Amino acid sequence: MSLSGKIAVVTGGSRGIGRAICQRLAALGATVIVNYVSNPAAAEETVASIQNAGGKAEAVQFNVATSEEIEAAFKKILDAHGRVDILVNNAGITRDGLLMKMKDEQWDEVLNTNLKGVFLCTKAVSRGMMKQRWGRIINITSVIGFAGNAGQANYAAAKAGIVGFTKSVAKELASRGITVNGVAPGYIVTDMTKDLSEEVTNTIKNEIPMGVLGEAEDIAGAVAYLASDDARYVTGQFIHVNGGMFM
Ligand code: NDP
Repeated sequence: MSLSGKIAVVTGGSRGIGRAICQRLAALGATVIVNYVSNPAAAEETVASIQNAGGKAEAVQFNVATSEEIEAAFKKILDAHGRVDILVNNAGITRDGLLMKMKDEQWDEVLNTNLKGVFLCTKAVSRGMMKQRWGRIINITSVIGFAGNAGQANYAAAKAGIVGFTKSVAKELASRGITVNGVAPGYIVTDMTKDLSEEVTNTIKNEIPMGVLGEAEDIAGAVAYLASDDARYVTGQFIHVNGGMFM
């Protein structure tokens, strides 16, 4: 499996799952654009880890929820590299709360980052991918988008939205050699899950047949497969990486 010569953009590549995806794609030969929004030090750490391993990467700041920033950033990326071959829409946030107490801002922030961001970045790369008749778009959804979760109506709605979006765009772009797929992680050890109490973590573990939380690298492996030529006949699909938690 080689991604040599490919240009990949990974949103939210500075930390957690995104960082592992950046490292994996770079290890397979891709030049990786590591996006972040507010944490340049973490993004530079990702870039340095890739360069130290002999790979190619650079950090680019933009907010996936802001169309002007995306337009400007993708113009720069295209000017510098000529094209984008692989887009991984990974950036995501949580603003949890029970429905009765959920504020408009909690809803809007999560929907804008987790769903509108996927739309905006996908749109930004699709014209070039159509012209070159090759592209891989991989959207990171969640087990919560399929199963729901009390206290995460906003997050579940955004992640389920990604599912419908992925299937629709897969149908639109299939004839142009572009595949659009998703990976649905279960509970993965990252900053996003580090503040869960021991009690909640134990409850979650009890729901996972494999009995442990996943690692960011587990998600990176599924993304690498979908980005590769081995997955050329796979589109509109989701790989569930969750230790058996949801089948
Ligand atoms: P982390 O909280 O560890 O990292 C989030 C990443 O997203 C950071 O790189 C952050 O950048 C970036 N980001 C956040 N908001 C924006 C924005 N507006 N524009 C650009 N980048 C942004 O998250 P995880 O690694 O845990 O999660 C990655 C993805 O996987 C998310 O989509 C999440 O919903 C999904 N997921 C995670 C699961 C888990 O258990 N961890 C389970 C299921 C799905 P910065 O460093 O600059 O803040």
